[in-house]
Amino acid sequence: MNRTTVPNEPACAPPAPLDAGAAASEPHIAACRRAWQLLCAAGMPTLADAPVLAADPLLADALQDAFNAGRLPGALIEAEIRRALLDGPRDATLLAAVLLAAVALDRFRGGRRAMLLADACAVRARHDDARAVAGAVLRAHATLILSRCAPLREAALLQAEACRLEAGRPDTLARNAVLWTGVRLLCGAPLAELLHYADAIRQSVPFGNVSVATSQLDSRIALFRALADGPRTPYLPTVPADAMQFGCWLGSLQAAWLRGDTGAARAALAAARQLVTPLTPPCELLPYHLFGALTLARLDHVPGATAALRVHRRALQAWARRASDVAGAMALLALAVEQDAVGAGRALTAYERAAAQAQSAGQAWIAALAWEGAAGLCARNGLAGALPGYRKLALNAWRDWGAHGRVRDLMQAWDATPAAPDHDQQTRAARAGTVGELGITIAHEVNQPLAAILLHAAAARRWLRRGQPDTTRALEALEQITACGRQAGDIVRSVRGLARREGEAASMFALDTAVGEVAQLLRALMVRQNVQLETRLLLPERQIHASRAQIQQVLINLLLNAIEALACVSDRPRRIVLESVPAGPALVELRVRDNGPGIAPADRERIFDALYSTKPHGTGVGLSISRAIVEAHGGRIEYTAAEPHGALFRVVLPVRSIASVVPPSESRDHA
Ligand code: ADP
Repeated sequence: MNRTTVPNEPACAPPAPLDAGAAASEPHIAACRRAWQLLCAAGMPTLADAPVLAADPLLADALQDAFNAGRLPGALIEAEIRRALLDGPRDATLLAAVLLAAVALDRFRGGRRAMLLADACAVRARHDDARAVAGAVLRAHATLILSRCAPLREAALLQAEACRLEAGRPDTLARNAVLWTGVRLLCGAPLAELLHYADAIRQSVPFGNVSVATSQLDSRIALFRALADGPRTPYLPTVPADAMQFGCWLGSLQAAWLRGDTGAARAALAAARQLVTPLTPPCELLPYHLFGALTLARLDHVPGATAALRVHRRALQAWARRASDVAGAMALLALAVEQDAVGAGRALTAYERAAAQAQSAGQAWIAALAWEGAAGLCARNGLAGALPGYRKLALNAWRDWGAHGRVRDLMQAWDATPAAPDHDQQTRAARAGTVGELGITIAHEVNQPLAAILLHAAAARRWLRRGQPDTTRALEALEQITACGRQAGDIVRSVRGLARREGEAASMFALDTAVGEVAQLLRALMVRQNVQLETRLLLPERQIHASRAQIQQVLINLLLNAIEALACVSDRPRRIVLESVPAGPALVELRVRDNGPGIAPADRERIFDALYSTKPHGTGVGLSISRAIVEAHGGRIEYTAAEPHGALFRVVLPVRSIASVVPPSESRDHA
């Protein structure tokens, strides 16, 4: 069988003209003929239906005539299908029509017409007479047409309908489950849901009904289970070697990449590449390109690897233009790994963008891969200060998705190469200003004593609740709690110390320029979050003496909080106003105002407390660090409710910082 080795970019471009008299085009005819052969051959995505198709002589003959007549295949496919439908649609004709519409879509850029045709078939298929193939028709429409031309979530709905219609058919159960979990995975469904569904379907496949589809489902279940359970549960595809189809190789590719076996990933990628066809469904094609790019990024020493990576990245970018809801973050991640592979300085920002996009699209596993990429980059480049923050973000994202096995695997692997940032490195991480790393690093440190406190408290409760309470042991547990509390306190104190570090980078600088830089840094994030930023900087001439990096860190914390608070606003434009205003002869004021929900009166007292957070994954250190920094400069930070909605944070700073941040030589000069 001829296989297409280079994936075609699916197209939704204007349809080819329906001009039966147009000049014959040999390559098109050959392509169309090959497509027909592919459709009739075993091993297609709709394997179970291939015999039905081949047994539809009406359509086969019509197509053969069309080829022989040497007319324009794209239009002919459609014309012949219409004729076949008019002849009284037979079950197989409906299915064939959708499959051929998919070929036409891919080969002849007939997106809109393919969609109309497939819709017409779906309507007929739902009709009572065609019930037998309704599921197959809807499945083909969902995986091959709709998922290329419409938001993938729409395809997922149609796919669900197909699954329901075919629920009683043991032969297609597994294939449906593979496709359905594939689409849901792209849409960001929780891992537990995917695993539960795949497991349930696998168990309902009758014993002995083993096929390529069941093997593929088994390998997918193995992958999901390894991600969910770990540690080091093998990401093992159980597919027999002779049944290796595209989807099976894709499973192997993902499994090998996740367990860090680049050689096996590379072999699986090469095998999968041979099996890509014009009808490979997007729910398999997109992960293929993504994991292809990730694998090739690990092979930067292999000649041609970067060029091959670029092919995958471009394919994902083409998809992102059509199905940005699911492919956007993947394309950004592929770009990040490409930049990383060629050592581009923008790679870290690219990882952050990919993660942010994935998070806002609800695709936690893609965000996790992006954070892993950022951590890997830091580890390879000796950026020890930022490393723990990125690792933490990766672990959080995997955990959010339900991949606790992956979390354990990574923690095991990372424990072997611990990142032990020193104080200076933490300071640098803070100064780098990248989204909250310092806070996350500290939260990580503080989390350990907190977890220990909870454990000791549970133990103390157990000792005291016994029939014969064991007060000695309960007291020991209480001692431990006190020690852990002290340890946590020390960490928080060291953060305050860090904020106050004497002489740390205090200098004269133009306030508005520094504020403008922060606005610029976060602008892309705001655009992605649909937040409008208005800046009113009224102190263009004003120089202040302070730690520029720390003041910028305060603004970043306030702005990030505002952006996060606005995430829940959908009934009004999301706005942030960033202002600098004079506040007296020797004082300046910075204001960050948002029109989010504001802060409930009950919480206002506590927001500046260390570790106080109302967010599910908040660290509760942003505002406490900010206050420590501002107070160390002799200033103050205040919250007031904004009118009619939202939060207003005001930071008042002296034009010249107090002695603690002034280098000793200067403080003597100005004493
Ligand atoms: P975190 O952001 O990790 O929760 P912070 O110390 O930065 O920690 O903030 C503490 C709490 O203050 C937040 O959990 C949130 O409840 C509240 N908060 C801070 N900024 C805002 C804001 N702009 N709008 C609403 N609530 C806010």
